Amino acid sequence: MERLYSRHFDRRSMKYTSILTGDYTTCYVCGKPAEEMHHIFHGADKKLSEKLGCMVPLCRACHNRVHHEGGELDWELKEEAQRVYLIRTFGRCYL
Ligand SMILES: [Zn+2]
Ligand SMILES: [Zn+2]
Repeated sequence: MERLYSRHFDRRSMKYTSILTGDYTTCYVCGKPAEEMHHIFHGADKKLSEKLGCMVPLCRACHNRVHHEGGELDWELKEEAQRVYLIRTFGRCYL
């Protein structure tokens, strides 16, 4: 079987988990091979993102998009993370 992990990305050597996906080999946004982990709440909340699993695997192009275009995609990921986190916490979604 072909190795799916890219050179820069290896699940086994990674200390992060994601509450949004169990698949760390494909980009959460476009489905291409993932290369980097994105902190959904970055900046001051970066450490909290790591702790809560608010991370998503992204390919480099999508990662650049989130950070440089920001806006909608950044917001969508934040919204999704908050929704999943609430479901995990309350056992259901109230949104
Ligand atoms: Zn992508
Ligand atoms: Zn990022």
